[in-house]
Amino acid sequence: MLRENLQEVEERIQEACRRAGRDRSEVTLVAVSKTKPVAILQEAYDLGVRVFGENKVQEIREKYEALPKDIEWHMIGHLQTNKVKYIVDKVRLIHSVDSLRLAEVIEKEAEKHNRIVDILLEVNVAEEESKFGLKMPEVIPMAEKVVQLPHIRLRGLMTIAPFVENPEKNRAIFANLHDLYVDIKEKNIDNGTVSILSMGMTNDYEVAVEEGATMVRVGTGIFGARDYSI
Ligand SMILES: *Cc1c(COP(=O)(O)O)cnc(C)c1O
Repeated sequence: MLRENLQEVEERIQEACRRAGRDRSEVTLVAVSKTKPVAILQEAYDLGVRVFGENKVQEIREKYEALPKDIEWHMIGHLQTNKVKYIVDKVRLIHSVDSLRLAEVIEKEAEKHNRIVDILLEVNVAEEESKFGLKMPEVIPMAEKVVQLPHIRLRGLMTIAPFVENPEKNRAIFANLHDLYVDIKEKNIDNGTVSILSMGMTNDYEVAVEEGATMVRVGTGIFGARDYSI
């Protein structure tokens, strides 16, 4: 099951790249393993997966201890400032920075560990009440502040698009975020470190790739439905 799912996601990414005239190597697949047990992650690891996305600090800590050390852990969920210290030395990329206060806490903890932490700014493009993230007009002013923190490296932008039946409905959202991403690169706010645009989930990752995503976060499409009752 896992093998077939991974194969199918891989093929769909390849086809979306082909349609968009992009090279497959431009897109990183993040396997979103939240709620899944360590044994399933090990199985994915044995099939070659090295990049895992998780949304809970406690889960990252436990899985980090239990699994091989060459895994890249990505924090994709909302991060509380008081929990930054538990993961700052374990994660390769934090996708969900949505306030200057959070960036400053990451800076402080990163300095303690003598480490530079890669981050993305999370953008609530559709301005949904239920979601975290900066509004589009807040992104460039925030980027200008974040790049001044010496232990943080701004790598790009992330969004969680609305849940829609028809993924075409999210195309404009992905295109808008891509425009902003290009704008940040062209303004050279970042001194050239911005190269990641994290957008697209199981339901809409192909459209996201067509609109320029360099990172897609796929959970259900790889691991099947999540059971939150256990
Ligand atoms: C759960 C989650 C995903 C994966 O969602 P699927 O629809 O299962 O692919 C991607 N990104 C974030 C931020 C998530 O929380």
